[in-house]
Formats: sequence, C-alpha cells, structure tokens
Amino acid sequence: MSDSNPPRTATALPPIDQAPAVEAPSSGPLPLLGMELSNFETLAKESGLPPFAARQIAKWVYEKRIFDPEAMTDLPKRGRERLAALVVSGAHAPVKATTSRDGTKKYLFATEVGRIPPNAPRLAPPPAAATATTTTTPNSAPPPAAATFAPPSATASAPPPASTSAPPSSTAQTRFIEAAYIPDRDRATLCVSSQVGCKMGCLFCSTGRMGFHGQLSVQEILNQIVSIPKSASLTNVVYMGMGEPFDNLDNVLATLRVLCAPWGFAWSPRRITVSTVGVLPGLRRFLDESECHLAVSLHSPFHDERRALMPVEAAYALPELIGMIRSFDFGRQRRISFEYILFEGLNDSSRHINEIARLLNGVNCRFNLIAFHAIPDVPFRPASRQRLEWFRDELGRKGFTATIRASRGEDILAACGLLSTRELSSRQEAGQI
Ligand code: SF4
Repeated sequence: MSDSNPPRTATALPPIDQAPAVEAPSSGPLPLLGMELSNFETLAKESGLPPFAARQIAKWVYEKRIFDPEAMTDLPKRGRERLAALVVSGAHAPVKATTSRDGTKKYLFATEVGRIPPNAPRLAPPPAAATATTTTTPNSAPPPAAATFAPPSATASAPPPASTSAPPSSTAQTRFIEAAYIPDRDRATLCVSSQVGCKMGCLFCSTGRMGFHGQLSVQEILNQIVSIPKSASLTNVVYMGMGEPFDNLDNVLATLRVLCAPWGFAWSPRRITVSTVGVLPGLRRFLDESECHLAVSLHSPFHDERRALMPVEAAYALPELIGMIRSFDFGRQRRISFEYILFEGLNDSSRHINEIARLLNGVNCRFNLIAFHAIPDVPFRPASRQRLEWFRDELGRKGFTATIRASRGEDILAACGLLSTRELSSRQEAGQI
C-alpha cells in the first residue's frame, strides 16, 4: 500500500524505553517462557522441589499461563520462594497494535539485538556441588530477593521490574518484530516471526530488504503467541513472518516441541505450518524432528528466474529441494503446500504451469496462490484477480489443488517487514531510540 494511507486503527503503547525487558540477562533470573521439561526439572531441583514438580511448573506456565511462582499453589511455599528467586516470566506485551478494517491485527514487539547472543545458553544443569548445596541445605541461607513478575498484558506494559532489566550492552540496538493475527470465521491464525530481519534477500520482500539483525530466542518466538490479547482464541500458528525459520532452526524446533508436547501447549502439530524458501539442511531436520505442516515458497519453477527472485536458489536449487521432498514420506496427515506469489507478466504464464506440473508430477501437494502486496521501490506489479483465477484453474487441470489466499490487512502494511521498518524509522526520527 502507499505511504499516504494511514492505518485504520493504531494503538500506541508506551515508548520503547518503558517497554519490558525482552530477555533476562544470562547471569540473572531465567525466563520461564521457552523452557522445556528438562529445564523445568533442573529448576525444580535447584528450588529444592521434588522431580515431579517440574511438570507442575510446566503446567502452570503453558496450560494455565501463570508465570508468578507465588501463584503456583500446588508447590510448597518454601519451594515457591526459591523458584521466584531464580526466574522471571519472560513474557512481554507488544509495544504497538494496529487493526485493519478486515479484522487483521498486526502486533509489534520490541527486541534488543546485540544484548543477548543469538543462541545464548538456556538453563543448564547446575554443577554437582552447587546442586548439593541447594538441595541439602535449603534453609541455610535466605533466598535472594524475589523476582517481580509481569504476566502478559493485553493493553499495557509496565516499566521493567528491576530484576528483569539489564543495562543494554554497548552494541545493543532496539528493533521491532511483527506478528499478524488473522481471524477467519471459526479460525484464528497467528503469523509469527523467527528472526529480526532476514539473510535471504528475496527481491519482493520488505523484510529481506532490511538485512539480517539477529535470531529470535525460543522465548521471543513463543512470546508472540502468548502475549497477544486473543492468544486463547488461536487455532493455528504459521511461521511465515519475518525471517527464514530454517536459518534459526534450533530455536524454531524448540518452540515446536513446546507447542506440541503434552507438558507444553499440547497442540496437534497439524495446527502449525512452517514456511521455508528451501534451506535444505534445515528442511531435512525439520522433516525428521517434527510433524508440523510444511510450506515451501516456490514463486517460479525455472532456475534462473527463481534465482533472480530468491538468491537461495543459487545455493539450494529446486531439483534438490523437490528431490528431498519426494524422498520423504509425508503420510496422510502431514501436508505440504507451495506458496506462489503471482507477479504480472513475470511468473504467471502457461509455460510456468507446464513446468510446475513436470517438476511436481506425482507429489501430493497443494498450492496457495498469493496476490502480491506492493511494497515501496519494488518494480513488480500484482497479477490481476482474473489472472489468479486462471492460474488456479490451470493448476487444477493439471491435478493440483490450488486456492487463492485472501488478501488480508493491506491497509495496515500487512506485507511482512513493512510495519517494523516504519516503526523503527519513526522512533529514530522522534529520538526515542
Ligand atoms: S520472503 Fe521470507 S526468506 Fe525471503 S527475505 Fe522475506 S522473510 Fe526472508
């Protein structure tokens, strides 16, 4: 959309210098959000709690969304106090929300690139001596001052509690990431980001144009899901926001484990779709280690044309990508889809249809055809509705199921990366960061 169209509704939340800390310092209290069962087990041990308390804590965090140890009433009081000294919630509200006239909502979350290493170690088992001290002499020393907790808030964010804030390092820089909430009849889908910016440099993508600024932690990815106001109504999550999920694979896989594990959100993996441009090493691990749906950005079946649109094609060419997909047994439940943005006069011909049919002959897949959201300084034009329908029907004649994805939130800069870029510029101009 053009810059002259203001968002329909924009809810300004506190300036970034009042936004809650994104992540606890690595030497201080650890964020509960993002922990896995093994982390909770270590935490229970360090808090002098029995091993089964690990599942109790996980249940409070992921099922009940209670992050304050004091409120975990089935734990002994002394254990709750010790636990409170070790952890912070890790959840923080978005700094801005924008609503489209079609009901799509876009949320901006602040993140500080550079303060925490991209893959900072998470809670590790303590050294044996330290564990012995903690567990055998629980009353020998008073616990440090209890952490103050800030459960996710729908509308406001408080100043950061002292225990969660850390002075930004000299290299820390505030950036913004986006999550889009898309209601549609009985479904509500959240599109989440996995990176701050992206290395992949796809020509048509606003996030690609901002460059790469850092990986999102497990906590920061999950925070998008738990800290939006309508979190409880979500039926689906798609990893199609800022970044290439398979370029942050360890953290993305960890979030999938938390979302699908019985001790976590206990979601069916069929509610989750992860999208990729085709980073093959990541794709292999994703296929082996998760059961979630896969979406592959295709956009052209021809090597040279796709390479011009998507530099990843130079490293991982389509024949290898399709070969890997062919070699994997998706079963009957797991779905593979191809995303295809139609650009007028570029990738919307019968030549493209024929090559797609040749390339994917016998692959059980479906197509999502997407109308291009125009972005500033990108010369491509969206294909017409008539062309989209023709392309869909032609794919159908070749035996593929193809649907046209409804264009949502165009009036709020729904193309991924636009809103965060705009927010960064306006806050920089206002001298807020
Ligand atoms: S389309 Fe996806 S992979 Fe490509 S630059 Fe944008 S965010 Fe990165």
